[in-house]
Amino acid sequence: MVRPGKNSGEPSVGVQKPLWDSDFSLAPAYEHLYDSGMVLDELRSAVDQVCGTEPAALCDGESIVELHRCLARLEAATTRATASFDARREWADDGARSAPAWLTARCQLPRQTARRRVRLGRALRHLPAAERAWLAGEVGEAQVAALARVRTPATEDAMANDEEMLVGQASSLRYDHFTRVLAYWRQYVDPDGAEDDAERQRGSRRVHLSQGLDDRWFLDGVLDPISGAIISDALRAIADELFEADWAEARERLGEAATVADLARTPAQRRHDALVEMARRAGTAPEDGRRPEPLFSVLVGYETFHGPICQLANGTAVSPGSLVPWLDQAWVERVVFDAPSRVIDVGVARRLFTGATRRAVQVRDRECFHPLCDEPAEWCEVDHVEPWSAGGDTVAANGRPACAFHNRQRHRRP
Ligand SMILES: [Zn+2]
Repeated sequence: MVRPGKNSGEPSVGVQKPLWDSDFSLAPAYEHLYDSGMVLDELRSAVDQVCGTEPAALCDGESIVELHRCLARLEAATTRATASFDARREWADDGARSAPAWLTARCQLPRQTARRRVRLGRALRHLPAAERAWLAGEVGEAQVAALARVRTPATEDAMANDEEMLVGQASSLRYDHFTRVLAYWRQYVDPDGAEDDAERQRGSRRVHLSQGLDDRWFLDGVLDPISGAIISDALRAIADELFEADWAEARERLGEAATVADLARTPAQRRHDALVEMARRAGTAPEDGRRPEPLFSVLVGYETFHGPICQLANGTAVSPGSLVPWLDQAWVERVVFDAPSRVIDVGVARRLFTGATRRAVQVRDRECFHPLCDEPAEWCEVDHVEPWSAGGDTVAANGRPACAFHNRQRHRRP
């Protein structure tokens, strides 16, 4: 919601700049030359045109990207203006207690959103490169907020030096890859802070299971990144078994016509049943049975090519110290890149990627090969880049992880 400019309705004087010029910026000294009412009128009519356009006319990939880019630019301008509104205390004129309180009431924002916008606007003053990139639509709010989160008193000097580089990563990488880069950067410039955070995360772990008035049970909790990955992997493996069972049952009932809508349970119900199944299996497992220990892969030589890494199979970057509590019960696997002690490229004619070769590909690539997919390699099959039928070898160099979906998609094509 926007208040009309002070001079709206009057002939406007001043410099006109195209609204969507990518170099658009208002130097404070020239700010008074712009008539806010005129700028917003132009914006409104441009937005009117977009809103009046049939969705079908904007549904090609290029338009979708451009719409998101414009949305990001507008969010950047809105956040920057909000920061200025906050600093000049214009909200106090209306008797509000704070800028977020004013925004919550006048713009009908959830309180959290209002606070976040004001906070991010304040942070922008210390992140000039991020502000420029956001105004240009090269990055979005999520990337700028992630940068602001890692700028602490301990990292602010390093951020001043590295901001351009990090913003460059933000504009070229997928969001989750960028946040991983940020996590590693944080570990590098502030190792103690990163370890303290990890310890705080581990310290805040909790699970509550309580019975409600109607006898149902309520489960609520917070898990540290490693524990969460252990539980999530186990739950997912059992939920997958239950899905197969549901699917087989639906096929038997309806034949070829069965779809996911015909499955007896929803995904949430299957996760519930998987948790119960996990408890039942825990009760029936032999006391001296081998526990599935967490597996640690130590990548030797990898950092020479790609830089040091410390992350879970699901891609979450973790601090080295957070692994220590797990080390005495973990299986440690050594994967050597381009070194003779572990043979990762075996030229033997094999049809399928198995054992060390398969593992080498999973550890190296970590995700499904498809650029629009982030399925962890652990859940992927390893298939041939150059197909086996076309003479492709079953060696790590010719292997890549492919999730079930992208594996199927590939084989549907000629
Ligand atoms: Zn995939």
